[in-house]
Amino acid sequence: MGNSDLRIDPSRPATCYIHHLLADSDDPACRGRYIRLIIHPNEDDLRAAGTAYNKRRGSDQDLRGSAGLFQPTRFRSRYDRKAKAWVDTTTAFAGIMRLADGYLNSQVIAHESTHAALHVTRLHDWAKPGSDGNADFGDGCDAREEAFAYLLGGIAHEVNNAVLQYQAALPHNPPAPEGDSCLCKMTCTPPRPTSTPSTPTARARPPRYATQ
Ligand SMILES: [Zn+2]
Repeated sequence: MGNSDLRIDPSRPATCYIHHLLADSDDPACRGRYIRLIIHPNEDDLRAAGTAYNKRRGSDQDLRGSAGLFQPTRFRSRYDRKAKAWVDTTTAFAGIMRLADGYLNSQVIAHESTHAALHVTRLHDWAKPGSDGNADFGDGCDAREEAFAYLLGGIAHEVNNAVLQYQAALPHNPPAPEGDSCLCKMTCTPPRPTSTPSTPTARARPPRYATQ
């Protein structure tokens, strides 16, 4: 896991990419994903950019009150008639995390990193035969949960590094407040398939629009 250097241009939101996100590093079939992190100059800019992005994806979600956001990518697959199997066609790109200056605190970082880690995990599960992309962690603190904890911790670490880089470059920004400032409204709830029947036609995975 790592991040590209934060690009800081005073006329634009700061941005970087967080790479090599593995939902399960012990699984040789696990694909590395990446997310884009954008730090907006304020929450109004975050909401405007988030709304515009949603609109391009056909969502009119109301982002009023949001001071942090994770916008996950879609689940995709196609049916391979030759192989008689569904093939995962999701992208390595897992989504955009948006943070806002003035709300760059540990609570928001942990919150949005959790959304990102869960979506990377869902994308990993989506690729498995017969899976519906649910991130099911079972009933115990086991290896699966441990893999998730590593993923989440790694994302939060990289986001925190980027935030520190941002704050070091722009020392005039106000100190990050702690407390009840995370107003992200469960932005990572793509619609789930209503059933998982076994025939290919009925099994057709609907395009899952992760429109928050
Ligand atoms: Zn949230």
